[in-house]
Amino acid sequence: MTSGSFPGATLRGAWITALGAVLVGPVLIRLLTASADPLWTQLSTTTGLLALSSMVCAAVLPSRVRSLTRAFGIEGILEVHRSLGVLAAALVLLHLACVVVADPANVALLDPSRATPASRAATVATLALALVVVLALTRSRTRPLPYELWRWGHVGLAAIALAGSALHVWYLQNLVSDAVMSAVLGILSVLLLAVLTHRWVLRSMFDPAAEFVVRGVWRENDTVSTLVLDRRRSRHTAGGDPGWTFAPGQFAWLRLQRSTSAEEHPFTIASSADLGDSVEFTIRHHAGGFSAAVAHLEPGRSVWVDGPHGAFTVDDAHSATGVVMIAGGVGVTPMMSMLRTAADRGDDRRFHLVLVVARRDDVLFRDELGLLEQYLDLEVTEVLRGSARRGDPNPLIAALTRPNDDAADPAAFDYFVCGSPSLVGTAFHALDALGVPPDHVRTEQFDLV
Ligand SMILES: Cc1cc2nc3c(=O)[nH]c(=O)nc-3n(C[C@H](O)[C@H](O)[C@H](O)COP(=O)(O)OP(=O)(O)OC[C@H]3O[C@@H](n4cnc5c(N)ncnc54)[C@H](O)[C@@H]3O)c2cc1C
Repeated sequence: MTSGSFPGATLRGAWITALGAVLVGPVLIRLLTASADPLWTQLSTTTGLLALSSMVCAAVLPSRVRSLTRAFGIEGILEVHRSLGVLAAALVLLHLACVVVADPANVALLDPSRATPASRAATVATLALALVVVLALTRSRTRPLPYELWRWGHVGLAAIALAGSALHVWYLQNLVSDAVMSAVLGILSVLLLAVLTHRWVLRSMFDPAAEFVVRGVWRENDTVSTLVLDRRRSRHTAGGDPGWTFAPGQFAWLRLQRSTSAEEHPFTIASSADLGDSVEFTIRHHAGGFSAAVAHLEPGRSVWVDGPHGAFTVDDAHSATGVVMIAGGVGVTPMMSMLRTAADRGDDRRFHLVLVVARRDDVLFRDELGLLEQYLDLEVTEVLRGSARRGDPNPLIAALTRPNDDAADPAAFDYFVCGSPSLVGTAFHALDALGVPPDHVRTEQFDLV
């Protein structure tokens, strides 16, 4: 649902071009350079190559490349990642059908006792890919597995699908024995390996800029704490180091160990983007989970921050008039970063923050928001969701409607919505009912799957 145009449009254009080239480039080159094969053989090569390219793009997208998450936002990226995964699975099935139609005797390759190394690799890759798709589709509805188990299952199966596909192409030898196609596949493999090595090895094990030190943990209420971190200074971060910068509203993944396999969780940076090398995360504890462990971190210990990521930032807002923010519970964190930064920068736009909470006591940062109202053109409205039917947009519509407002044209504002998927859905309905153009709305759901 994240949308809207912003100054990073060039970045976005560059990434669309690059991903488009990876997706259709190999198949186009093959069609232009190959000698005329029988139709069904051509179709099987075309579908196979497209499936391979889709898998490569699907693997690159969630690999935490900062310019990519900055260009599209994490929701946009995951949406395209899912679609590419499903597309790859569909293309693999089409590829299988074409292989059999091209030569019905190929059905025998499905029999394990008569299978060739190439068909064995293909079978393993296909089964792994099918399982990835089933796990992904059932996760969003039924959540049968704990998140960490699900994540490692997803990553492991995707790796098997990619490796199996690569082996299939290698064993077949028909593409790799072609000089042009072997060069194309070689470039594709190097690019993929570079992105994966950066994501899984360099970033998690060797990036000195990722290490921060806990300054303290402040309790906001019984279930929410703020973790304050300072960047660990090292010889790599001294001297001409530009510092750790982020756009207000962006998030990062936190880890408690320097290890590729360590648990990592996404949290929004709640502090001002102008605080130098310090960052704050305000975190709601889930009993027994990672977030509960964060509340007990001792000052002086190291934690690792992979970020900043995301495109949910007021820096990209295109309205000069103002910004409307709707936050559910702890979804106020990106709004706090945006408002604190706006105060530090003397931003004179109008801000309206609508806080949706279950109980009045759940409102976070009430005192600080009162102070910010003195420095900014800021109005804060609290909405209790207790009385409203779940999903009912009317309390939000009432909070957002200001009859005496001289600048009530909804298109004059940018809208930021953050919280649980249900709050984001309800807010989207409310904004739609108020006639807000969809491309003025940005959303961030505190739930990746
Ligand atoms: C972009 C983004 C920004 C976020 N910002 C904040 C924030 O500022 N403050 C805050 O309190 N929460 C934030 N969250 C939510 C936070 O990431 C989860 O609440 C946290 O990961 C839960 O982990 P847990 O082990 O404590 O709880 P658990 O009880 O293990 O999990 C609770 C739920 O959180 C989700 N979850 C668990 N682990 C992960 C993971 N590694 N990655 C993604 N989702 C996971 C699952 O859907 C799970 O059902 C954000 C989420 C996203 C996607």
